[in-house]
Amino acid sequence: MSTEQRADVAVVGAGVVGLAFAWAAARGGRSVVLFDRTPAPQGASVRNFGMIWPIGQLPGPDYARALRSRARWLELRAAGVWVHECGSVHAVYRADEDAVLREFAARAPGLGVACEYLSAADALRRAPALNPRGLLGALHSPTELAVNPPDAVARLQRYLAETYPVTLRLGVAVTHIEMPRVRAAGGETWRVGRAFVCSGTDFETLFPAEFAAAGIRRCKLQMMRTGPQPGGWRVGPHLAGGLTLCHYRSFEVCSTLPAVRARVAATMPDYVKYGIHVLVSQNDRGEVIIGDSHEYDADISPFDTAEIDALVLDYLREMLTLPDPRIAARWNGVYAKHPTRPFVTAEPQPGCTIAVAPGGAGMTMSFGIADDWWEGIE
Ligand SMILES: Cc1cc2nc3c(=O)[nH]c(=O)nc-3n(C[C@H](O)[C@H](O)[C@H](O)COP(=O)(O)OP(=O)(O)OC[C@H]3O[C@@H](n4cnc5c(N)ncnc54)[C@H](O)[C@@H]3O)c2cc1C
Repeated sequence: MSTEQRADVAVVGAGVVGLAFAWAAARGGRSVVLFDRTPAPQGASVRNFGMIWPIGQLPGPDYARALRSRARWLELRAAGVWVHECGSVHAVYRADEDAVLREFAARAPGLGVACEYLSAADALRRAPALNPRGLLGALHSPTELAVNPPDAVARLQRYLAETYPVTLRLGVAVTHIEMPRVRAAGGETWRVGRAFVCSGTDFETLFPAEFAAAGIRRCKLQMMRTGPQPGGWRVGPHLAGGLTLCHYRSFEVCSTLPAVRARVAATMPDYVKYGIHVLVSQNDRGEVIIGDSHEYDADISPFDTAEIDALVLDYLREMLTLPDPRIAARWNGVYAKHPTRPFVTAEPQPGCTIAVAPGGAGMTMSFGIADDWWEGIE
């Protein structure tokens, strides 16, 4: 392909962020060329829990945006994407954690968040796999969805190409953008009206100076999954434990949270050191996905740490009994995250937008982010 081709929009990166921008552009009637340097998706968008997790977002605009994204995921059922309305349960075994859940549930109606506090007995009815010993209570939220990330991303790529004027260029790395020209390795060149750089954790190939100035960090997470659970056994809702209260921004509104943070810092140094909290989801094959940890920048090693997996599984055993807990796969994923901003956009050239770093919420937020961006310019 040596002659110059044309499209209204070029998107670099076919992870969930790039797919969201491509889908929003295509729905608006634009022709799109969507590049990814790998022939099959390999980035953070296929390495995650598949949790669409509005309950983790700060009440207000972020939570509302997560719900708009959620609605887009539900639309994708028509494209054959498995999207399961499972909801979530945060289960707690410590009095200070229980206080946070009670405070959050009491404030939730005023914050516009749909959730309820459950007694231990009600929590066990919702999530029978929870360990009943020492269970104090739980927070139930109905808004969370489960998807199977590798399958969802691959299907969404195909859906865009089959339904809209979207040209997929998979296995093609974009090496240079000088608007209106987008150039790929091998000399392929496109003339476009607008370009989006949704390159995930690649900060070096395109606009390295802008990325260096943006202050974005890389974060590595270790993950595990079991095989399919026997007899079609299901976890039910996504599960989170008490450590998760310190992880997501939603609970920052609680005056009772600092006590949990202080106790965790004093008594669980290894969990703090590796940024561990424990989440559980289950995919359509019945496999249970378990994680995770958070290691940043210079601490990121290509090699996984056995101690991290052991700490995660120790914590998991305190809150959950799986029929078949054997680990069938282990992997890590790296995402881009800004220390203070929920998402980063920059305009290095007129008509070219960098759109990256949704942190640990890219599956939850990307469709809403892309929709809002397009609405903002039209
Ligand atoms: C272990 C883990 C668990 C997570 N769990 C959840 C969860 O349950 N729920 C949730 O909401 N979020 C979760 N997240 C976060 C979420 O996965 C990320 O925020 C999201 O996937 C980031 O999407 P992305 O498109 O920016 O990145 P990626 O998926 O990494 O995609 C970027 C793509 O750009 C391509 N690319 C880069 N440079 C070029 C170039 N020059 N030319 C062509 N292609 C290029 C890459 O090949 C890659 O495919 C998790 C993340 C991890 C790592």
